[in-house]
This record gives sequence, structure tokens and C-alpha cells, in this order.
Amino acid sequence: MNKLIPVNKKEDILPEYLDTPIGLLLEYHNLGKPQEAYESAQLLVGMCMDNRKHLNIPDNFSFIIRSGGANLRYSDFKVSFAISVGKVKHIALIGHNNCGMVNLASRKDEFISGLVDSAGWDAARAEEHFMYFAPLFEIGNAADFILSETRRLRLRYPKIMVAPLFYMVEDNKLFFIDENKKND
Ligand SMILES: [Zn+2]
Repeated sequence: MNKLIPVNKKEDILPEYLDTPIGLLLEYHNLGKPQEAYESAQLLVGMCMDNRKHLNIPDNFSFIIRSGGANLRYSDFKVSFAISVGKVKHIALIGHNNCGMVNLASRKDEFISGLVDSAGWDAARAEEHFMYFAPLFEIGNAADFILSETRRLRLRYPKIMVAPLFYMVEDNKLFFIDENKKND
């Protein structure tokens, strides 16, 4: 289990992120910092498509890419755009608990019958669709996945600061995922 670092006051923000757009994200969302006006995006947020999450941030503050499990592996072009044209230098990757992309395989029957009943697909096509895409989006553990995506993005965009964060759907707070935790 990954250790989550709560942020309940400004001093809780990890020093490397303090006074960066990532620290500001935590100040706005967790600490209720009064919202300032922005004319351009300060960072890129990658977060899950899940409906239970909403960020409390100012207008224009952030690009947001939403994808199952905050998986940006298939959104590279959009990430590159936010960096090159959007001029952001920081990425916050936000996983969350109770993510539907964890143990996706267990939802196969529900997925197929849902597409058949709700969208009018035939069952064989729905199954093929699931079998093709589920392995691309399946996540074993939401926090581990965010750490591996963080490492991938740091390698791909070496001058960009990337922070692994976690959203608790019960209290709507953001946490840092501790990167220093040794494996048990
Ligand atoms: Zn999710």
C-alpha cells in the first residue's frame, strides 16, 4: 500500500512543489486559498474521467485531460500540446480511490450487456471491443499506476515537473503519493 501524504496546511506541501503551480493547486483545492485571476494555464492536470471528482481551482488555471484511471499513455499529443503551445511546465497526475479502471476484467459482463442494452451493439462486437481495450486501461493499483505514469512522463518530458497526487472521493481532498516509500 502506498503512503499518502495529507495536505491540511501550507507547510504540508512537499518543499519541491511549494510556490509552484502544483503547490498552488493544493492551496486552492485543499486549503481554500482565495482564487486569483489567470490569463493563461499554469499547469496540466491529468485525472480520471470519474464523475465523483471536481477540482476547486480558478478559471483558466489549468489544462485538464480526463481519461480512465488518469492514464495519459494515449494522450501524448495533448500533453505535448499543453507543454509546447500552452507553455505549461508542470503536470499534476491525479489518481483516486475506488477507481473503476482497477480490476476492469471483473466488469466484462456488465460492460458487454450495457453496450448491448444501452447502445444497441451486438454482443460479439461488444466483447471484441472490451477484449481489445480493457488491457490498455486495466490498472492493478491506482496509486502504483500514478507513480509509474509519473516516472514515464518525467522520462518523456525531462524539463517538466510531474507530481503524483491522489484524490479521496469521500472527503474530496488531494494527497501526495509518497515516492520515498520502500517496498515492503
Ligand atoms: Zn477512476
